[in-house]
Amino acid sequence: MQVVCVESGKAALNILADAEQRKPAFDIAILDHMMPGMDGEELGRRIRKCGELAGMKLALATSAGLRKETAHFRSIGFDVCLTKPVFQSLLFDTIAHLCGRAISEGCAAADVSDKERAQAKAPSPSRSLRILLAEDNQANQLLASVMLQRKGHRVDAVGNGIEAVKAVQSIPYDLVLMDVQMPEMDGLEATAKIRSLPGDLARIPIIALTANAMKGDREKYLAAGMNDYISKPIDEAKLHGALARWSGAPGKKSGNALAARKTGSA
Ligand code: MN
Repeated sequence: MQVVCVESGKAALNILADAEQRKPAFDIAILDHMMPGMDGEELGRRIRKCGELAGMKLALATSAGLRKETAHFRSIGFDVCLTKPVFQSLLFDTIAHLCGRAISEGCAAADVSDKERAQAKAPSPSRSLRILLAEDNQANQLLASVMLQRKGHRVDAVGNGIEAVKAVQSIPYDLVLMDVQMPEMDGLEATAKIRSLPGDLARIPIIALTANAMKGDREKYLAAGMNDYISKPIDEAKLHGALARWSGAPGKKSGNALAARKTGSA
């Protein structure tokens, strides 16, 4: 994979104009939303006006607090929105998805799982987290609660998205584990609602709990504003690995530093 980084919308348009002359041109452009001068929305509009670039996929990296409706970005021509901080595995999956390749076939996916294994084995953070678990299946709820409490985390469990949205507004959680399929309000809608809350509430890390059958639906999780995901049945090492990645967010941890390097500052 070859990557070219530029620091402004104008520089991006210049390099895209050059690239039209030679093959291969760019397959994907990842645009930061808030940039000085020309912002990501305007840059996306200009790229979409350019017929020669019609085949290029567009991803917009935006801060949760600045999110508008996904439909708005789609109407401009973005294929996918990424909520910052963008975690590495989601970035790889998104790129694989945009390229139309099966994730399990790519070497990127292998790198990610090696990394995740290493992280899962690394000593877990001693910090006790306050976690909201939104999961309608009682067996899964119990299992996840036991895994979390074993590491000293405090867990509150709710059974649907409506309760999850209410809970994050009444208690300052460090992180939310969000089942995707729930009655009343599903995890995607609940995430979108949390992302539209005022201030810091909108930036709480949300990790999706996904059934195997839904593995192909990652774009939906991203569009809803989720940061990461864990497949069910829940693997304890992967769960703690994900918590370790996100326990410093928003703001400080290595995952965020990576996102800042990849996407520029907001
Ligand atoms: Mn469920």
